[in-house]
Amino acid sequence: MSIMNPTDLPKSTTATSHNSVHNLAENGQQEQQGKDQAKDQTVGLDFIRAIIADDLSTGKHNQIVTRFPPEPNGYLHLGHVKSICLNFGIANENNGLCNLRLDDTNPIAEDQEYIDNIEKDVKWLGFNWNGEVRHASSYFGQLYDWAVQLIKQGDAYVDLQTIEQIRLNRGDFTQAGTNSPYRDQTVEENLALFDKMKNGGFEVGAAVLRAKIDMASPNVHMRDPVLYRILNVEHHQTGNDWIIYPMYDYAHPLGDAIEGITHSLCTLEFEDHRPFYEWVIDKVNTPAKPRQIEFSRLNVDYTLTSKRKLKKLVDDSVVAGWDDPRMPTVAGMRRRGFTPEGLRDFCHRVGVSKNDGIVDVGLLEFCIRQSIENVAPRGMAVLRPLKVTLSNLPEAMTLKHARHPNVDLGEREIPLTSEIYIDRADFEEVPPKGFKRLIPDGEVRLRHAYVIRCDEVIKDAAGNVIELKCSIDPETLGKNPEGRKVKGVIQWVSASAGIPAEIRIYDRLFTHANPEDGDDFMQNVNVASQTTLQAFVEPSLAQANNGDRFQFEREGYFIADEKDHTTAKPVFNRILDLKDSWKG
Ligand code: ATP
Ligand code: MG
Repeated sequence: MSIMNPTDLPKSTTATSHNSVHNLAENGQQEQQGKDQAKDQTVGLDFIRAIIADDLSTGKHNQIVTRFPPEPNGYLHLGHVKSICLNFGIANENNGLCNLRLDDTNPIAEDQEYIDNIEKDVKWLGFNWNGEVRHASSYFGQLYDWAVQLIKQGDAYVDLQTIEQIRLNRGDFTQAGTNSPYRDQTVEENLALFDKMKNGGFEVGAAVLRAKIDMASPNVHMRDPVLYRILNVEHHQTGNDWIIYPMYDYAHPLGDAIEGITHSLCTLEFEDHRPFYEWVIDKVNTPAKPRQIEFSRLNVDYTLTSKRKLKKLVDDSVVAGWDDPRMPTVAGMRRRGFTPEGLRDFCHRVGVSKNDGIVDVGLLEFCIRQSIENVAPRGMAVLRPLKVTLSNLPEAMTLKHARHPNVDLGEREIPLTSEIYIDRADFEEVPPKGFKRLIPDGEVRLRHAYVIRCDEVIKDAAGNVIELKCSIDPETLGKNPEGRKVKGVIQWVSASAGIPAEIRIYDRLFTHANPEDGDDFMQNVNVASQTTLQAFVEPSLAQANNGDRFQFEREGYFIADEKDHTTAKPVFNRILDLKDSWKG
């Protein structure tokens, strides 16, 4: 924002703790303690749901209306998912309504691309908004009329101090502010000046409309906050209709009131803005009186949840775009292969509270794996191929196997031919202790097929292993070998029938649990967070549609890339590996 906003709260004043790790399972009981335990219908609910249950049971509201109000200045991220699940979730649970409103009061940073993706992302997460998508900008006329009303009531004035003077005169947390010399202009003067602001009579920054509240208030947000500023830029919705634009803190409560929002849920940094929210509602005297309730932001380790910082990663080409599969944006997570079910489950488990904490990213990964495990068909892929020749395989054959332990997912055909690939990591000439896979003269089972023995190791001139000659034990298809134990099982793919595929492996985007550690989060970027491999996958996987998810046995969960995958040139993103680090 190019204009100072006296209503912007310095972040340092909020009680965000980055020390309390694993502050989970806050949902429900904890919040309820100390509250009215006698009311049966609220027991076990988080504090927001308890308030809502109470408001419905006392008849304060017959129907609740919430809203999700993103500013279209970037793509939605994991933090927004929490807010979406909360607002839409609460409305759904209570037969209420939830609006989608674009809080588009700052056209400088906003863009239609962001609007389109916000709508797409909310739908993808599984939620439907009430009626049409709403825009704060469609209330500009009403907001202007109310500003005139405030001037007439003596509750607002045009200030001609410079932005710098306004900032200096605001005081700080220890010092009261100083009244503007323009504070006591008459209503007529203010009306004329505001009209002049609206009609282009001032340069950008030469005049603002301020609320007339109290420059000595202990709450700096009550020290005559700015209501309107001149931007003189085109707006993506209202074109050139306006050159004055309302501040977020003015537009937001009134937008809520216009829409008949009953409960306006926002994050904790707005707690200090609440007195102003209530002041505006009271002074304008809107018919609806929405109530603001704050909850803690979602913070997840190894993850950035700030549109501004995510935008920097995009603008500086650290990632390939807002939908880069490493990004914690909804678009990125979708492309990565995360599921809406897993994300909703995650938000449910994290719960709602007023305690800031940092959630273990392992919980998110756990929820995603859980949502995929039972529905993703399995298949074999060899990510780092090493050729194996089966010298005694009589002829090519086709094996049939279930796609999943849940046989309802059907069967697949797996061709076995005399040349196959196994993963380089599954063979060791000099095995480390405890190595259970293939070694010279050792045996291993090919998953779903025979036990093989390694008879010969072939190397290139440089001494690299380039091929293994192996023999099958023909008695071991679906049976254990007689008189000896073969412990290892490895995946494989037919060399002639297997399909070459590009596999993209993603790691965490940041090397630090707290990406903001140090002076500059950009220095904590994990430069090795993406690896591309040329792999072979079993033929059944090549038929994948974009967005289909699989478990590649022993390798992890994968998705056929939304954009780049084709049957002719398969591309799979690794969603997650199979290891679960979440300890509950
Ligand atoms: P950012 O700092 O990333 O721009 P924001 O809060 O400014 O986030 P908005 O578009 O204004 O982004 O947010 C829309 C809604 O999402 C708001 O109600 C906001 O409180 C909520 N929200 C944003 N980030 C989080 C988060 N990390 N956890 C929970 N809710 C969030
Ligand atoms: Mg914001």
